[in-house]
Amino acid sequence: MQKNIAVVGAGYVGIVSGACFAKLGSNVICVDVDEKKVESINKGKAPIYELDLDEILSSYRDRIHATIDYKSAIEGSEITFVCVGTPSLKDGGIDLSYVKQVVKNIGRILKDIDKWHDVVIKSTVLPGTSQNILLPILEKYSEKKAGKDFGLSMNPEFLREGTAAYDFLNPDRIVIGSFDNKSKEVLKKLYSDFDCPIIETSLSAAEMIKYASNCFLGTKISFINEIGNFCKEIGVDTYEVADGVGLDKRIGRAFLNSGIGWGGSCFPKDINALICWAKQNGYSSKILDDVVKVNDIQPLKLVELLKKHIPNLKGKKIGVLGLAFKPNTDDIRESRAIPIILKLTEEGAQIKVYDPKAMDNFKQQFPNIKIHYCSSADEVLGSDAVLITTIWDEFKNLDYSGKIVIDGRRLEKAKSAKIYEGVCW
Ligand code: NAD
Repeated sequence: MQKNIAVVGAGYVGIVSGACFAKLGSNVICVDVDEKKVESINKGKAPIYELDLDEILSSYRDRIHATIDYKSAIEGSEITFVCVGTPSLKDGGIDLSYVKQVVKNIGRILKDIDKWHDVVIKSTVLPGTSQNILLPILEKYSEKKAGKDFGLSMNPEFLREGTAAYDFLNPDRIVIGSFDNKSKEVLKKLYSDFDCPIIETSLSAAEMIKYASNCFLGTKISFINEIGNFCKEIGVDTYEVADGVGLDKRIGRAFLNSGIGWGGSCFPKDINALICWAKQNGYSSKILDDVVKVNDIQPLKLVELLKKHIPNLKGKKIGVLGLAFKPNTDDIRESRAIPIILKLTEEGAQIKVYDPKAMDNFKQQFPNIKIHYCSSADEVLGSDAVLITTIWDEFKNLDYSGKIVIDGRRLEKAKSAKIYEGVCW
């Protein structure tokens, strides 16, 4: 069903949601404080690298625009999706300042609007946030009542960076947590063409579904990494083990690829936020604390294995293939390459890196680390040893023969190296 939609926050989730809603026939206006992003979207160019996104944006340019002006965007829409970031605070807790600021702005605008408007929280927020924090802010600044004058829903997003547009358009499920029936019905209609189960819940259950999903996936990876570490000790191939385990329908093969752990913008911050939230609410997390601990040590295992072959890294040229936290994205948030590169720096290695998309982001975030950024993956291979940290397609067919390769991501071709070590195999 087509609607006029405002999307506040044109980052990974916002721009992908906006572009996909436009593809499905809605008119979309993205609101962002970053003028460069706004300009880029209005030129039909995605402000981030994400498969298929440029094509969708340029194909549906008549239906998707961007602005920094909240008022015109919200006044011209029936639904506003809140998609701003909810990053981590220093203690691991959630920083709600962006979301709070956005709902304050929306509330102020709703005050002067006479028609019904649905506010949908898509940002990942902890259970209870929409009901106990965001709803009161909306009511205070709009001087209106939720459920009577405007609608409030929570619609968590499960897309994966790298395949974000595909995931948005082909979800396993859509979760609609709602405060009021009217906004629930509006969202159900909006998503009526999607071929997947639609789960209707309370606001807080929708919030918890998102956290429980990410925490489970992070747990599954840390679990298989721990099994992988045991396997490495006894010379067993953990991928054979994962294949055998994964055929059990109760377990499933997905997320059983052992390696150097999870990174990205979601798992680390969401798992830490839930741990922190649990502590603040008088519970202590046992499983999740250890899930994080396993994940913290896993990337450093790559350097330990490297030192088995080159004990003193001082002055040695060490190549790193991959900076993005996973392939097909330029996102380096919590990338496992970061602790590895920091450790190599500490050991005095000369670092050469290559990533097809994420080098600019890395340079920007770590301007003080001395790194040689290569113009091709082949150039990285001219190092004393090479570490594989992201499994980009273009790394799959390089000529690794005669090299020392320490592999964090299970790249089959790299097994032809002179010396080859897999982190868990
Ligand atoms: P992001 O950092 O890529 O984008 C956030 C955007 O919000 C930025 O463009 C920023 O300029 C904009 N912004 C900040 N303050 C604003 C304001 N006051 N008004 C308008 N725009 C403002 O974040 P993201 O990765 O898209 O994540 C957004 C939310 O979605 C987070 O809660 C995240 O946990 C959740 N999420 C992310 C993913 C993912 O893969 N990235 C997946 C599912 C859920």
